Amino acid sequence: MRTVPEPASNRIERAEPFGYPPRAVFTQQATDMPSANFFAALRAITGTERCITDPGLLLAYECDAITHLRTTPVAAVLPETRDEVVRIVQLCAQHGVPLTGRGAGTCLSGGAIASPGGILVAFPRMNRILQVDAANRIAVVQPGVINARLSQVLRPLGLAYMPDPSSQTACTLGGNVGENSGGPHCIKHGSTAASVLALEMVLADGSVAHIGHARGRTGGPDLRGLVVGSEGTLGLVTAITLRLERIPSTELTLLASYRDMRAACAAVSSIIAAGILPSALEALDDRTIAALEASGRESGYPRDAAAVLLIEFDGEAAAVRAEADATIALLHKADAIAVDEATDAAQRARLWRGRKGAFGAMGRLAPDLYVMDTVVPRSKLPEVLPRIGQICDELHLRLANVFHAGEGNLHPNISYDGRNPEEVQRVILAGKRIVELCLAAGGALSGEHGIGTEKLDYMPLMFDEASMAAMHTVREVFDAQKLFNPGKVLPTPRICAESAPPRHRGPHA
Ligand SMILES: Cc1cc2nc3c(=O)[nH]c(=O)nc-3n(C[C@H](O)[C@H](O)[C@H](O)COP(=O)(O)OP(=O)(O)OC[C@H]3O[C@@H](n4cnc5c(N)ncnc54)[C@H](O)[C@@H]3O)c2cc1C
Repeated sequence: MRTVPEPASNRIERAEPFGYPPRAVFTQQATDMPSANFFAALRAITGTERCITDPGLLLAYECDAITHLRTTPVAAVLPETRDEVVRIVQLCAQHGVPLTGRGAGTCLSGGAIASPGGILVAFPRMNRILQVDAANRIAVVQPGVINARLSQVLRPLGLAYMPDPSSQTACTLGGNVGENSGGPHCIKHGSTAASVLALEMVLADGSVAHIGHARGRTGGPDLRGLVVGSEGTLGLVTAITLRLERIPSTELTLLASYRDMRAACAAVSSIIAAGILPSALEALDDRTIAALEASGRESGYPRDAAAVLLIEFDGEAAAVRAEADATIALLHKADAIAVDEATDAAQRARLWRGRKGAFGAMGRLAPDLYVMDTVVPRSKLPEVLPRIGQICDELHLRLANVFHAGEGNLHPNISYDGRNPEEVQRVILAGKRIVELCLAAGGALSGEHGIGTEKLDYMPLMFDEASMAAMHTVREVFDAQKLFNPGKVLPTPRICAESAPPRHRGPHA
């Protein structure tokens, strides 16, 4: 790494959190156990091996990556073809059984767990890359393709699929569509929605819709934009047409270290205010760096820094150099202890291994990890981050921050022990206070992990009645029976008396 020197300062304001909202009600649709006929018909579609009903095996499907929300599905089916998906949807409609699509189950908002009385339709067997059209820079994939696998296949062709969630070695492109997933490089290249051209989707009546077009804009309403990020509430996606990009000719990576997170955040604000658009602008705090160290990962982050910024530029060499130089000056002006530049591919890869392995490293600190996802205006980062620290201190919780700083997309990570119900309650309370704080600062509920069941209660804090009613109406147009992932994303007060929330995790079995 090559070091570049200089100094300066910054200022801080404080945000006061507002009071608690009235608790909205979880809205899982109450549904009786399906009949024996239903299970027999389900097995007839997929065969016994791909229709899991054994309670022991179903434990693997009772939560996603947010472990304090759990619902055991009545079955998990693993279709291999679109026609099987069609028949499963038709069967569920006939019997009134809710169904939830599932990719790799890495969702961090409880969106990939079954609704009570419902089945999971899991897509690991629909994992083929159907077409790569290098000339037109398009790929067509089945929903179960792992994000990183597509990139591996594209690399020898000089092409890339840009959205890169940190979970990319596990998560599927179907799940990315469900959540409109982001990633470190989405600040410049856009989240999943920017790369999805078209979708094949099985609708509530079993018909197959083709939404969007491989050539881009089609005229007419943009249903593609509606479906991406709808968290499996409008239908099941069975094929995805993706926009590809050329691998950039030059990539340049900087690592800036700071004595405190406020200074690092002030640097982020100044970079954005200067109109510079890096391809990644990530922040990690000292607790994250310590967790990486403890996990034995060779990340190359300085042990004595309270915060680091990982910044990358891509494009043509001259433009990349000019943007990097302007950024280096701003980093120093914001009082960086050091600014280092990765001088070879191995150093760059090591820095990214650290960033992308951060959640995994934190997973070693305690039995459970609550990875939160909220957004604040980038200019508010220096005042919001310390308040989040205070909230966790007040509740005696262990916090570490690693986040998409350039997008104001925060990931407060709380390590806890799910075997302790009282600690779980403190974690949930901290989550609530953090959401309130971020909304009060002019932020949003989620930057990339979605609403799922985790943030259902908070939707009325963000959206007024008319906006929520519009969302309900859209959902009903697609799914009048409300069988696709009910009880997720939108609270439905009309049926709350019948509702059954996912159970909060109690002691380990
Ligand atoms: C360690 C870690 C790091 C992460 N980093 C990031 C990150 O950087 N950026 C980010 O955005 N997220 C991140 N996530 C969250 C998660 O990986 C993403 O939300 C991802 O897109 C989920 O993909 P999945 O295949 O696991 O989908 P699942 O979790 O199985 O499902 C996600 C949603 O999509 C729906 N769905 C799945 N398949 C279909 C289908 N075929 N049709 C219709 N709906 C479907 C599900 O019903 C659910 O609502 C991270 C998670 C972990 C555990």
